[in-house]
Amino acid sequence: MRDSETLAREVIARCQMLARFSEDVGSIRRTFLSPPMRDVHRAIAEWIIPLDATSRVDAAGNLRILFAGAEANAPRLLIGSHLDTVPNAGAYDGVLGVVLAVALLSARDARKYPFAIDVLGFSEEEGVRFGIPFIGSRALVGTLDEQLLSCRDDRGISVREAIANFGLNPAEIEQAAISGDILGYIEFHIEQGPVLENAGHPLGVVEAIAGQSRMEFTFTGHANHAGTTPMHLRHDALAAAAEWISAVELQARNTTGMVATIGAIHAKPGAVNVIAGEAQLTLDVRHQSDEIRNQAVDYFIRQAEDIATRRGVHVQSKKLMDQQAVPMDSFLVHQVAEAVRRAGCEPFRMVSGAGHDAMILAARVPSAMIFLRTPGGISHDPAETVEVDDVRKAIDCGIHLLDQLASSSDFLSSSSRTRRA
Ligand SMILES: [Zn+2]
Repeated sequence: MRDSETLAREVIARCQMLARFSEDVGSIRRTFLSPPMRDVHRAIAEWIIPLDATSRVDAAGNLRILFAGAEANAPRLLIGSHLDTVPNAGAYDGVLGVVLAVALLSARDARKYPFAIDVLGFSEEEGVRFGIPFIGSRALVGTLDEQLLSCRDDRGISVREAIANFGLNPAEIEQAAISGDILGYIEFHIEQGPVLENAGHPLGVVEAIAGQSRMEFTFTGHANHAGTTPMHLRHDALAAAAEWISAVELQARNTTGMVATIGAIHAKPGAVNVIAGEAQLTLDVRHQSDEIRNQAVDYFIRQAEDIATRRGVHVQSKKLMDQQAVPMDSFLVHQVAEAVRRAGCEPFRMVSGAGHDAMILAARVPSAMIFLRTPGGISHDPAETVEVDDVRKAIDCGIHLLDQLASSSDFLSSSSRTRRA
């Protein structure tokens, strides 16, 4: 048994060590079943030898570490995150959650728990290689389907071929799905945003993963000469779009918990001396409540139409994505809040604006997430860091959480396990 300060330093050193396994020289990139993923699997498998745990890689490329419980056939608790990265990544996004889970196994005599612990290192969460995220966790919940397996990367290699090329058997995908007595899924992850730092909290209790709408708007006016067309005779598509962007920003600012982003704009014909005849924009809206998000989207459409009418231009909108919010399991959220408190921190509740593996797992098993403060709010960047003391608190929180769950008859009873079945 080792103290959490020592473990925290080891967790950070291990994340930095795994960061060396990259497809790129001088920066971190580790996409789905790329060669460096094998090195990561090998390194973690070595760490768990003294813990008397076993590891394997499933057919979807997920690393599965099994730490047996006190009794054979004990129910299982899943703890994990993802091992893939974006290009030019930091060392902690995803990886920290896996390395921290391994640290929890060595923090206590985990064999005394009335459940077995499965540490999961998901093969793919970011969606970099195939443009589709969560390949790893989808396999666990049984939704890695034929269509997804046929998707191809930019070299023309399909998901199925990538699996075979890595030495795995795509015919065994179905066996990667979780089955049997699963108690829940816990994920530690860096916040990847400025909220915790801003509020002065090391840890965050995630209540839900925000729902998300993505849309495309096209304003159509008349392109004309910038010198000869007086202001009052214009049908400027870009000016209409600009007015609408400000309206969207104002509404989102005035709605608690909402974020709305127009991240891309394309104006045609796109010349310095021509009034824009067309402006195409993207819209991304997120909120914990699907009702509030849907109402906001309707409002943004009406605003665009009002602005267009007043300016004598047309507007069309198209829905690209409509993803519902995923609440975390209320029992586990309560337990996480209590564990955060026992670790000496205020249980600050928050919503994740980004998608995570927990969102996919929540469809099958009670799930919960704990966020760690991200210094400067910087993530998906080599400057991504974590504080040793925050990692220490996260480890303490994890130890308390496991102890609480181990002594909760509510949690161990079948009624809690079937909550989401
Ligand atoms: Zn991540």
